[in-house]
Amino acid sequence: MTQRILHVLIAVLFLSYCAPQVETVSKPSLEPASPHSLEIVTRAEWGWVPLTDTILTHEIKYITIHHGGEDFSEDKDVIKYLIGLQSWSRSDKNWIDNPYHYMIDLQGKIYEARPIEYPGDTNTDYDVRGHALICVMGNYEHQILSKTQFEQLALLTATLADKYGVSNDLIKSHKDYTETLCPGKDLYRYLEDGSLVKRVAELRKP
Ligand SMILES: [Zn+2]
Repeated sequence: MTQRILHVLIAVLFLSYCAPQVETVSKPSLEPASPHSLEIVTRAEWGWVPLTDTILTHEIKYITIHHGGEDFSEDKDVIKYLIGLQSWSRSDKNWIDNPYHYMIDLQGKIYEARPIEYPGDTNTDYDVRGHALICVMGNYEHQILSKTQFEQLALLTATLADKYGVSNDLIKSHKDYTETLCPGKDLYRYLEDGSLVKRVAELRKP
């Protein structure tokens, strides 16, 4: 009798382990690259075209801020712009992707661009290896950075700085490395007076 019960038990165990699972569809992970509660539009969400080529990877040691350098109006279609920039980067510049890792629009919305494990690209002559490149869309020689954009830029920078262990003194802008107007007067003033890094420091995890 005891042996019969044992056989039944073994059969039940076998069935429960080997029976085909009905729930086979796993949920896609849309977790952003950052560990914090930062909202980021993922590459998949904006229609990024996967890489067809790769380059040597790098480790993030610096965070470097840019502007797009192109006047950007409120009604400009951001998704079209991102898709166009990606396509131009590949076909005209022969880069593997959009030159920046993250991009921020006029509303302060953040978008993933080039996968951060690959160094970005630049039209100037500084070495982009080790740099996480953030670009605020627009031309801040002429445009004004909004409070929301400033705050989102600080939050993204703080998140990346925590994630990659970047010290606050290595958070700079394009202009700090080479001869360029980038990131434009109205964005650069927050780097020049230290207020951006101050805000980043407040937002960083203790
Ligand atoms: Zn730049």
